[in-house]
Amino acid sequence: MKKNSICQCAVCKNGSLIDGTATMTFEKDNSVIVVKNVPALVCNNCGEEFVHDSAAREVVSNVTKEFHKGVQIEVVDYAA
Ligand SMILES: [Zn+2]
Repeated sequence: MKKNSICQCAVCKNGSLIDGTATMTFEKDNSVIVVKNVPALVCNNCGEEFVHDSAAREVVSNVTKEFHKGVQIEVVDYAA
């Protein structure tokens, strides 16, 4: 699914993708971690969020560390 243009939404095929932010939620066992303000492209039609690959990798790596600490619920701000 690689196209030259990332401007069209792959979900609704109607909207355009604009710079924005997404909220990602991770759950593991009894832990929930919410990461806000992750850089993403957001469809202006259906609202689907496409998180940038590099940002997603960073988030997953940080979240994995937090899970190891045994947090129950944590809300973190990506930009902070
Ligand atoms: Zn869309």
